[in-house]
Amino acid sequence: MQDVLVIGAGPAGLSLVAALAEAGLAVQGLTLGDPAQPWPNTYGIWVDELEDLGLVPFLEHRWKDCVVHVNSGRLPLHREYGLLHNNRLQTHWLELAEQHQVTWHQGRACRVEHLADHTRVTTEAGEILTARLVVDATGHQAALVQRPAASAISFQAAYGVVGRFSKPPTDPQQMVFMDFRDDYLTPSDRQQPPTFLYAMDLGDGMYFVEETSLAHHPAMPMETLEQRLYQRLRHRGIEVKDIHHVEHCLFPMNQPLPDFTQRVVGFGGAASMVHPASGYMVGALLRRGPGLAAVIAAALSSAQTTPAQAASQAWGALWPADRVRKHYLYLFGLENLMAFDAPQLHQFFTAFFNLPTDDWAGFLADNLTLPEVVQAMVGLFGRASNPVRLGLMRSVFSHGHLLGRTLMS
Ligand SMILES: Cc1cc2nc3c(=O)[nH]c(=O)nc-3n(C[C@H](O)[C@H](O)[C@H](O)COP(=O)(O)OP(=O)(O)OC[C@H]3O[C@@H](n4cnc5c(N)ncnc54)[C@H](O)[C@@H]3O)c2cc1C
Repeated sequence: MQDVLVIGAGPAGLSLVAALAEAGLAVQGLTLGDPAQPWPNTYGIWVDELEDLGLVPFLEHRWKDCVVHVNSGRLPLHREYGLLHNNRLQTHWLELAEQHQVTWHQGRACRVEHLADHTRVTTEAGEILTARLVVDATGHQAALVQRPAASAISFQAAYGVVGRFSKPPTDPQQMVFMDFRDDYLTPSDRQQPPTFLYAMDLGDGMYFVEETSLAHHPAMPMETLEQRLYQRLRHRGIEVKDIHHVEHCLFPMNQPLPDFTQRVVGFGGAASMVHPASGYMVGALLRRGPGLAAVIAAALSSAQTTPAQAASQAWGALWPADRVRKHYLYLFGLENLMAFDAPQLHQFFTAFFNLPTDDWAGFLADNLTLPEVVQAMVGLFGRASNPVRLGLMRSVFSHGHLLGRTLMS
């Protein structure tokens, strides 16, 4: 019997298949189609997150000139950003999988059954796959991982275009992390939830521009984002000349954490690993995957370890108590961001990106300790405008339960 069955071949599934196989486990993968099928999404990441992991060669583009625009001006970020070369990264992980004799199956996982010493997954077509441990990496709408029901999920939504334009939408070789300027909107549109432009110069006259709603419940309609993108470009005298690719982005920001006692282990979107205050996840996958694989390998190295014990150790490695506490703090941050009006949001981001780079970078990458996150938040409070401070204090009353979970989880 195989040690581990990984379901899904997005960034979470494929990276973990490679990490588990490299850790010496017998691994099989289950995917809807060919595991080499190109990923549909554009993945951005801060270059320093890859440097620490030796993965910089898997970037397709890099920008040193990264900026945020708010109504009061331009904030240079002094941090390098990149876009992943999806194909190169997929090929790398697939080659590692092949070297370690990973077997691939195709089908839709739809049922799971736990027996004393293994787990059985049945596909829609009736194929039965067995392994001592099953990892669900099927994304945000997980196929098998169980989560408590939630009523008000907030979504990040974005409408993006890769193409050519009548005038450059960014400065040469620039990446615009967030352009929150709303001078292109009518006064009544400005009363609606704010959105920002994420944009980059891809070289050779190509640009990627994406109108983004950071988080909203319910999700901001795609048509509104598309309309705003064109309105924003028109206001700057820019016409879209040629569309190469359109990206529709929609994913949940604050799904409940999974039940850590279940025998199916999650990874990626299936394990609620999206950073609730930013929507980023790929860096977390790359950082946590090898450690998770090592814990699973250690657990399964003993024939005495039951699948339930192995799953419990895996969940503990993925979501240790400290990380759970930080997660609630980020959820508190998310609630603040969604409650701010446009002026507060502009003032908030001015204060945030004026923090020492290590503080805001560590907050976004989730690689600070809990006391360091708290310290960064206190620093932010000290720098913030009075309306932002007032908003934060109001949130302590309306969303204090999240702070409570930070202190008591
Ligand atoms: C458009 C877009 C852009 C994003 N950009 C960024 C970014 O720039 N940076 C960042 O850090 N994050 C980004 N994210 C957030 C997050 O990193 C992505 O959603 C990421 O793709 C999640 O990875 P995943 O592997 O968990 O899930 P997915 O990428 O969704 O992969 C899930 C896999 O499971 C398979 N699958 C699903 N159901 C079944 C089933 N029942 N049986 C078998 N297989 C199944 C799917 O075919 C797929 O292979 C973005 C998200 C979107 C939607």
